[in-house]
Amino acid sequence: MAKFEYAPAPESRAVVTIAASYGLFIGGDFIEATDGSTYETINPSSEEALAEVTEAGKADVEAAVRAARAAFEGPWSRLPGTERGKYLFRIARILQERAREFAVLETLDNGKPIKESRDFDIPLAAAHFFYHAGWADKLEHAGLSGGSGQPPRPLGVVGQVIPWNFPLLMLSWKIAPALAAGNTVVLKPAQTTPLTALLFAEVCQQADLPAGVVNIITGAGETGRLLVEHPGVDKVAFTGSTQVGKAIARSIAGTRKRATLELGGKAANIVFDDAAIDEAVEGIVNGIFFNQGHVCCAGSRLLVQENVADDVIMRLKHRLQTLRVGDPLDKNTDVGAINSAAQLARIRELTEIGEAQGATRWSAPCNLPDRGFWFAPTVFTDVCQSHRIAQEEICGPVLSVLTFRTPQEAVAKANNTPYGLSAGIWTEKGSRILWMADQLRAGVVWANTFNRFDPASPFGGYKESGYGREGGRHGLEAYVTTGANR
Ligand code: NAD
Repeated sequence: MAKFEYAPAPESRAVVTIAASYGLFIGGDFIEATDGSTYETINPSSEEALAEVTEAGKADVEAAVRAARAAFEGPWSRLPGTERGKYLFRIARILQERAREFAVLETLDNGKPIKESRDFDIPLAAAHFFYHAGWADKLEHAGLSGGSGQPPRPLGVVGQVIPWNFPLLMLSWKIAPALAAGNTVVLKPAQTTPLTALLFAEVCQQADLPAGVVNIITGAGETGRLLVEHPGVDKVAFTGSTQVGKAIARSIAGTRKRATLELGGKAANIVFDDAAIDEAVEGIVNGIFFNQGHVCCAGSRLLVQENVADDVIMRLKHRLQTLRVGDPLDKNTDVGAINSAAQLARIRELTEIGEAQGATRWSAPCNLPDRGFWFAPTVFTDVCQSHRIAQEEICGPVLSVLTFRTPQEAVAKANNTPYGLSAGIWTEKGSRILWMADQLRAGVVWANTFNRFDPASPFGGYKESGYGREGGRHGLEAYVTTGANR
């Protein structure tokens, strides 16, 4: 397969200063943990240690929630929306000014290609702050009163827990609407990707955000559990796996806490025979190989109409041979490193099960680096609906291909999953797009495109993909209360 040769184009690491160790950001300052335990965060593309990070314990979670409560009851919740909006605008502008630094740091800590952190994660994170800054003084006019006639009010202290696949972006999805509505937050980034959240803490200082409005505590699942179960938390906002989402829902059941859960997915990307096939192939590649497939709404199941299946799969394999897998800091790289050894083990386990259950495996030929965590873009054909690779979220660069003959069959297969986060439809017929979108049990349906996001557009799931929406006016609803329900 002819392939362009590219000279290396590495982004400079020099734009980022990483401290040897980080404390917790509580009450506007970085402080030492009470129990003093730490762990290393590593670069998944080289396994090099980047920094020592604090594991927050019970007393630290307590201190963070207390700082958030004090800030809420202090001036923050009574500040006019215009003033809150100014802080959000300031944060958005600082994120833009420091975008290159954030992009390099995200790529170092996460393993994603620099062109994605530079062109997707960081600009979209800034856009979320800009968008919500605009809402801060308009909440009374957003129809959020639930018919009570009372102005919407903030809920209080929000406990937020996020995953490792889009660290800064998920932080912005959580913090921007919470602050716009007048809440204060304690946020825990994922264990393997804490560094951009800690840099964001510096942005809060730079923006002169009042102390305690944003608190960042690092640690693993136990820290997250302590946070969401803390009685001083009024609302929980969680993005992560369905398994942990269920545990959180159980733990807060019967309390007064509100929750939004953004969980896993197993999206169908559906290609009809009248689709523009080359564009659809680009959409399939973007759908599952963007961010190494570490995407909750990834198009991990390709449903292709039977009469064009051979052609689509042939063109897809050709295209995959041109993907450049390797150094995430190289601006030419398309597919970076798998985020952690644990995630790589999970991907390997599920792909081995795929082969054992009878699916046919094909992996793009590529030279994977010796060190770090890597997995070649992989396509499974001859997949049955009952195969585990067609049912379970792999959260890696692995596509399962199924076929269908009629639109009805496509809908039945697409909906045959416990999840319901997203779906894609590729066809020239507008009427078919509308009919399909109506039938698909998925929170987001893309037509002739995939993985498009905008802060104004609500995002969220059906079924085991969670509940609640993030983004847009719908996302704000989760962060306010009114006279009617208080
Ligand atoms: P995970 O559920 O293991 O962890 C997510 C976060 O929860 C981490 O910060 C983790 O430390 C914390 N956590 C773990 N156990 C906890 C507990 N008992 N209580 C509280 N917090 C706990 O998920 P992950 O592996 O980090 O992330 C990948 C998952 O996230 C995938 O399933 C992906 O689909 C999903 N995801 C969903 C969305 C969405 O919007 N629906 C977006 C991105 C990722």
